[in-house]
Amino acid sequence: MKVIRDEVLALTLSPLYAERIANKAFPVIGEGSHFARIMFVGEAPGKNEAETGKPFCGKSGKILDELLATVAIKREDVYVTNIVKDRPTANRDPIPEEIEIYGPFLDRQIEIIQPKVIATLGRFSMEYIMKKFGLERSLQVISAIHGKIFVGKTSYGEVTIVPLYHPAASIYNQALKETLKEDFLVLKKYSE
Ligand code: URA
Repeated sequence: MKVIRDEVLALTLSPLYAERIANKAFPVIGEGSHFARIMFVGEAPGKNEAETGKPFCGKSGKILDELLATVAIKREDVYVTNIVKDRPTANRDPIPEEIEIYGPFLDRQIEIIQPKVIATLGRFSMEYIMKKFGLERSLQVISAIHGKIFVGKTSYGEVTIVPLYHPAASIYNQALKETLKEDFLVLKKYSE
């Protein structure tokens, strides 16, 4: 992870590098247990995350913490990261070029942690992870497959993939928060 961190720090090729330096911001590599059974993959750091170097530490992070608490999963027992490791300008959606540049770092993190479950947060990580593990034919819009269980093949065996809505989507939508809570129940059995 330290090598990954050093490589991302020096990633001058990234279109987001100059802005990170100009803003005196940090890349966000990931946080949590390197022995985690469950790995959460979000989209990209927001403002709070780029200021601290920690994933999901702002508004979305508060919701993630709340959701984890509903199923009694401790945040320190999971690993939390994103596909894109630097903050996209003004929190816009990541562009394909950024996903292409940062994706291989996520791939290496998965190899290091070897999670049993990858829970994707939002449609960008859902698409990236499902394609990566040969599940493109099962891909549908997130409203159709959130909370469902998919099984992919990795170099270290099978991995369960659970697409989830991004916590930020529930900020102004209580119904979606309830959906997220229900979907988190799926994760509970993998945490023990
Ligand atoms: N949203 C994300 O997708 N990732 C973070 O780390 C924070 C907000």
